Amino acid sequence: MSAERERLMGLVRDADLRTVAEKVLAGEPVSEADARNMLVTNRVLELGAIADFMRRRINGDNACYGVNMNLNYTNVCELRCPLCAYSKDAGDEGAFTLTLDEIEGRVRRGVEAGIDEVHIVGGLNPALGLDYFTGMLRLIKRIKPDMHIVAFTAVEYDYFARISGLTLEEVFRALMEAGLGALPGGGAEIFAEGVRGVIAPKKISGERWLEVMRTAHSLGLKTNATMLYNHLETADDIVDHFSRIRDLQNKTGGFKTFVPLAFHGENTGIAAKRKDSTGFDDIRIYATARVFLHNVPHLKALWMYLGEKMAQVLLAFGADDIGATYHHEKVVHAAGARTSNYGSEEHLRRLITDAGFVPVRTTASYETINKK
Ligand code: SF4
Repeated sequence: MSAERERLMGLVRDADLRTVAEKVLAGEPVSEADARNMLVTNRVLELGAIADFMRRRINGDNACYGVNMNLNYTNVCELRCPLCAYSKDAGDEGAFTLTLDEIEGRVRRGVEAGIDEVHIVGGLNPALGLDYFTGMLRLIKRIKPDMHIVAFTAVEYDYFARISGLTLEEVFRALMEAGLGALPGGGAEIFAEGVRGVIAPKKISGERWLEVMRTAHSLGLKTNATMLYNHLETADDIVDHFSRIRDLQNKTGGFKTFVPLAFHGENTGIAAKRKDSTGFDDIRIYATARVFLHNVPHLKALWMYLGEKMAQVLLAFGADDIGATYHHEKVVHAAGARTSNYGSEEHLRRLITDAGFVPVRTTASYETINKK
């Protein structure tokens, strides 16, 4: 028995988890039944040993973070999903749409603060045409030509195609020419139709989300894949979500990161129907994702959604990316996130080193930035 194998098998006593550990050691994908077992186990330290083994095999001791800003360009949205605390109808109190001049001011302030990247998402606002978006990306590139732009959910791309009469591919090409660097992977929520029909009935289907990603990957764009949990989903819904992402990744290889997003229910239409996840739920979902999605290289534990302390703990349960600084984040804070909406770089580095990992400043495409 190799030392590596002896060490891992010595830590895992539960029979179902030993089956998982054997597959991981052999480099075999685990099954959906294995994922279900991982998602309900109470033996989180044993599960964590397997996830950490896999995490170190893929990413060593590195833990990534970014220095970026969020740009939420409008909260006017024609879908008004029940899960959303952020959107408004045009004319509502608090409804806003940033002009390109306002965007310029924000990005210039971000550049003065030393950002490497802008992360852009917003609502589906019928007042905006594709020109607004190409103009926005060009403007950002003029301010800082090497800015990495991570922009728009699959829901927005589907909308852009509809309003412009272009194909998805043509929309991507226009935005790539204007400076698009990668996709943040939002809008996936949970693919399972039953729950999706309750939390976001007017949103594109899970199949369409996967089609948008397939198209982006075919053009060489790298993307995240997200999953919204902590609402009405079951373990089976989570396994289904993982499985569809793993299948597409086997075909395209375009997902660079998986990002489970812990739902915040305050001010949403489904607040009363759900119960909050426990700490063990968070750990099980992250660790299971790390093990099941063996073909997606990174796992992001966004401190802003999870809280800094849980995000730090998850570095020992498979995560290798803690998220970024996010000046001006609005979406999750509208739904009651209690975290600060600006994590300093020093603080993110401290969370990582304090957990025994090596902090690496990167963009969302994992290009290393050597400023520290
Ligand atoms: S979740 Fe997105 S698509 Fe749905 S209402 Fe909110 S901004 Fe619009």
